[in-house]
Amino acid sequence: MGLLKDLRDFFFPRVCVCCGKLLSSQEEGLCVRCMASLPRTGLLNTPENEMERRFWGIFPVERASALYYYARGGNVSNILYGMKYHGRRKLCVQMGRMIATELMGTGFFDGIDCVMPVPLHKKRLRERGYNQSELLAIGISEMTGIPVETSSLIRKHNNTTQTHKSSFERWENVSGLFDITSRAAVWSGKHILLIDDVLTTGATISACIDALKVIPSIKISIVTLAWSKS
Ligand SMILES: [Zn+2]
Repeated sequence: MGLLKDLRDFFFPRVCVCCGKLLSSQEEGLCVRCMASLPRTGLLNTPENEMERRFWGIFPVERASALYYYARGGNVSNILYGMKYHGRRKLCVQMGRMIATELMGTGFFDGIDCVMPVPLHKKRLRERGYNQSELLAIGISEMTGIPVETSSLIRKHNNTTQTHKSSFERWENVSGLFDITSRAAVWSGKHILLIDDVLTTGATISACIDALKVIPSIKISIVTLAWSKS
């Protein structure tokens, strides 16, 4: 195993997704220096925090938290880009573990029945080969033992990228984007944790909630790796 890993590292050098420096064998995805420099939100399990308030008037979410602040061109945006476009599967899982490590012991995961990633459209999933939010969920699940659920919520359309759209256009673009499957009935009266890589306007997660809120007595919490506060 050791030799194979050395050979793989020789042909595919492992570099930090933020600064591009070679990683040591203990480092995964990014170097300890860059890891330590990431802007933590410190939201933890604070009730009625600013992120949770984003959803007031849409749905009474139980809890909302994010690990890092997102800023265009910053290290967190490098991580998100690597997770999405450079096939950095291990980095996604590792970031999920980081989220779990931050929030375990704060009560954030108490009573949560499943971790539900925001789904990709099946065409996008085929192209990318994985759903970065599902890998985040797997990282959380590894640490907390909470199961990952991917069969209850589906993305109906392959919507165009949100990046260059105005806030209003983003909301227009995602309305009716998700639907629940017949399996979703098992979450009646349960508490699900929706997870996505980044929260910007909240439009995508709100569209998920729109589809899920028809499940009787469902409780919904939200966690993302990154949060764009402005
Ligand atoms: Zn680095």
